[in-house]
Formats: sequence, C-alpha cells, structure tokens
Amino acid sequence: MNVSPPHDHRSREKGLIVYPVYSRRSKGLSLGVNLFPSRKTCSFNCPYCEVFPFKTDFSFDVELMETALIENIENTSIGAYGRMVKDVCFSGNGEPTLSPYFKIAVNSACAIRQKYASAAQVVVITNGTGLLRQDIFDFLLEKTHREQFNLWLKIDAGTEEWFKIIDRPDSVVRFSELVSTTRKFVEKANRNAVTIQTMLCSVNGAVPRQEEVSAWEQTILELAETGNVKNVHLYGKARPSPEDPLAQALPLSFLEKRADSLRRLLEDAKLNTPVETFE
Ligand code: SF4
Repeated sequence: MNVSPPHDHRSREKGLIVYPVYSRRSKGLSLGVNLFPSRKTCSFNCPYCEVFPFKTDFSFDVELMETALIENIENTSIGAYGRMVKDVCFSGNGEPTLSPYFKIAVNSACAIRQKYASAAQVVVITNGTGLLRQDIFDFLLEKTHREQFNLWLKIDAGTEEWFKIIDRPDSVVRFSELVSTTRKFVEKANRNAVTIQTMLCSVNGAVPRQEEVSAWEQTILELAETGNVKNVHLYGKARPSPEDPLAQALPLSFLEKRADSLRRLLEDAKLNTPVETFE
C-alpha cells in the first residue's frame, strides 16, 4: 500500500483501527491505533479536539489490529520518508486508557513492534487520567521500563481554572489529584520514556494569564526535577476542530516565547530537558 502523503487523520472516523499518518512530532511514518472505531470516548472535552462527531457499527478487534499493523509495517511507504515506521501510536478518537482492550492491545503492539519493526517505538498518547487507576498506572510504569516505549502525557494547564477551560474534564477528574499522580508516575518512570506535551491556543479569545503561565512552568519544572522527563513539546492548534472557532491557533512567536521562558527556568535549575515547539 502506497500512501502519499498521509497527513490525514480523518480515516479513523470511518472506523479504521489502524491508520498510517505522517507525524510532525516523530518526523516520519506513524501507525495510529484507534481503540474507539465506533465513537469518540474521552474523559476530557478539549475545545481544540480534532475528533469530529461520528458513529459507526465497527468494534475494536485485537486480531484485526494485529493483521493491519503487520500489513502496514510491511507495505506502507510515504514518499521521501520511505517505509521506515517511526512508531505505533495509540491515540485515535479519545483517551486510549478508557478502552477495555487497552492493555491487551498495547501488549500485542509491543510484540509486533519487536518482531517486525524493531527500530520503532510504541507510543501511548494520554491525557493522564488513566494514571488515576492503579492498574493502568502500574501497567504503563512497567512498560516504560521493559519496552521501547514512550508515553506522551498531556499537561495543558498549571491551574484548575485554565484546566477547566482548555481541557473541560469530566466532573470526577480533580486537577490537583491528576497533577500529584502524574508526579508520582514520572518519579518512578524510565528516564527516556515520558514526553510532556502542552497545547497552546486561545479559547474564546482568551490566552492563559500570567498566574497560569507561572503555575504551569512550576509544574513542568517539578516534573523535570525528577530527571525522568525526556522532553517537553509545546504544540499549537494545527487542524480543524468541530467547535471552531472556539479554540484558535496562536502565532509561532507566542509558542516560542513560552518555550524560551520555560527553557530559562530549566537552565536556572541546571536541567537540560529539551523544550520543542510544533506549530
Ligand atoms: S484529550 Fe484528546 S481526544 Fe480527549 S478531548 Fe482532548 S484532544 Fe480530544
């Protein structure tokens, strides 16, 4: 299968379980795994979320995932990037840890990665709420130590006020508990396995106030002080959302300014955690 160029994430809203895309963050071919082919399932309702409302009759099936992963690893190419699969990424249509298939699917993807794409990584993109469940916390922690594995952990806010605006979490999610559990997890994780990612966009015309910026920087600093944060990604809104124009992209200069401020804080603390921006 030749896919050129697969920048399109829309295929996962048609019920696909595995979808090849070009990943701007891993700079190559990423095989997305969608644990929710029938409808979006998430513990957040971010105003910038790019998943459009959809409903299909498809169900997740581990064997279908396995077959599709192997087929894509063996046959998919993207122009200049060739057939090198950079990662198998659990991300589509919601919060992966909410799926009853989450652990079995990740275990299976890890085995396939090892056999068919040993240079690739398995990536789980999460909003962090799964860590509030002890079994998921333990499962992911073990993965960071035993596999070629990367957890991309969303931290969009430093205060409860902005958290409620930028992530619109389910009412059961407590911001303070989420941050403290995330810190406990990062303290114990493998030092090369956790990427922190933060969305920077405006919501309803508003950007984070200075109090929020300082609190967010302090949260990231404390995580970096564990020595176990591989890198920090600040990314902008790059794709359409069903709620447009509620959330709006900000200029790259805004992202760079925030990145520079965080870099200075980390340098002052003698930490060399890389901070990257993605428009
Ligand atoms: S956490 Fe991800 S999937 Fe869930 S609402 Fe936010 S952007 Fe969408």
